[in-house]
Amino acid sequence: MKNKQFFDVVIIGAGPSGSNAAISYKKLNPDLKIALVDKAIFPRDKSCGDAFGPGVISALKRFGNEHILEDEPEVVSTTLFGPKNIGIQNYIPEVKNKEDSVVYVIPRLDLDNRILNLAKEEEVETFEGYRFSKFFNNEESVSVEIENEEKEKYILEAKLLVGADGANSRVRKSLNLKQNSDWNKAIAIRAYIDSPNYLEIFKERTLMFEINVSAIKGYAWAFPSKGNLLNIGIGVPLSIFKKEKMDIKNLLDKFVKTLESRGVEVENLRMEKSFMLPFASSRPKLGHNRVALIGDAGSMINPMSGEGIFYGMEAGFLLANETHQLINESGSELNKGITKYEKVFNKRFGKHFLSCSLARLVFQSPFMTKRLLNIASLDQHTIDFVVELLFDEANLTIKEILLLGFKFIMPLNILKLLNKTSK
Ligand SMILES: Cc1cc2nc3c(=O)[nH]c(=O)nc-3n(C[C@H](O)[C@H](O)[C@H](O)COP(=O)(O)OP(=O)(O)OC[C@H]3O[C@@H](n4cnc5c(N)ncnc54)[C@H](O)[C@@H]3O)c2cc1C
Repeated sequence: MKNKQFFDVVIIGAGPSGSNAAISYKKLNPDLKIALVDKAIFPRDKSCGDAFGPGVISALKRFGNEHILEDEPEVVSTTLFGPKNIGIQNYIPEVKNKEDSVVYVIPRLDLDNRILNLAKEEEVETFEGYRFSKFFNNEESVSVEIENEEKEKYILEAKLLVGADGANSRVRKSLNLKQNSDWNKAIAIRAYIDSPNYLEIFKERTLMFEINVSAIKGYAWAFPSKGNLLNIGIGVPLSIFKKEKMDIKNLLDKFVKTLESRGVEVENLRMEKSFMLPFASSRPKLGHNRVALIGDAGSMINPMSGEGIFYGMEAGFLLANETHQLINESGSELNKGITKYEKVFNKRFGKHFLSCSLARLVFQSPFMTKRLLNIASLDQHTIDFVVELLFDEANLTIKEILLLGFKFIMPLNILKLLNKTSK
């Protein structure tokens, strides 16, 4: 028997993007009836590096929700390793567009549950353990079909459907939109380890990135969470992974060996899980008739860093901001709001994503990576810029391209001399 229920907005996917969209709608317009549907029952695990920075903190602060980060240890620096073990440790610089230059590493099992609980506090109605299967949209509304393991079905009748159902989004498929090509996607594996001496080796709580070392054309990470817990992982573009017939477990084993060769003690390797990252270098159309995509469902992952939590949460807010007053207007008015959301999102992040796609090309060449890290080890401006691409919304301007190009062709000893004299 099908049960029918009526909502203003139905959101599929209760990850950070979907939950933050739900919170944003309720904060901007408490009268709205919002449903949040997820096939999983929370707390649920998600394959991820678990790291997030200033963007997520400001998204939480927007509605006074930063208290969910209380008592979490702060990460203070990044350490980049490139070919031939060139390594640079650098403090996370003051970012221009955000208040806090801090990074946290919280297992997604916990983080996503905390954000979902914030949505529940706002009286968002949740359907956990219900899988979205299909929808029908017309001028007046959208009918959304969901079902649980016991084959209990609901039809949720809504004014707006939001697809926040991740990298393999079924909402996106139902819109007949293609998945990202292999070039615009990466595959990555995450695992947890205990490491009693990681902080000792690096002298502080640092995010360790390794480019073009354990995986040629790929990157690996070790991110410290609470106590001795370390999130480690490695990823490569899917096109290269397939071409080179790589094995994701072998890549992880290789990275564990690299970590050990740096003196890091690795104990109790567990919870290995691989997943896809759809890069923002190729985004589908986000706005449709009474339907919008946010987060991984709309390919919003930074192609350089693999960061996606911030962009998805921000997309949820931007969508709510542009549509919360139009939910009960005509279909054409609501669709104008959805289109505006897409425009605002692309205007804010388009150039940033393009800059990160170019940076990704540099990092796919071992020669260029080595050269860039050599420059960055001598030149504070370059390392600050790389870290701002990672943690803020920095763009490569013409001036920045010329400056970097100049540094790339300049002999290193001259660059060193110039930096000494300018200090
Ligand atoms: C290995 C790896 C490492 C990463 N590291 C980082 C990192 O350190 N920092 C960072 O910011 N980003 C990282 N990312 C990217 C980040 O994980 C994603 O960008 C982020 O999870 C996107 O959030 P989301 O809410 O859009 O989707 P998700 O978090 O994937 O949530 C989607 C939700 O939809 C639900 N769902 C799916 N299909 C259905 C259906 N048919 N019906 C109902 N529910 C459904 C799922 O159960 C899930 O809960 C990493 C990704 C990978 C794979």
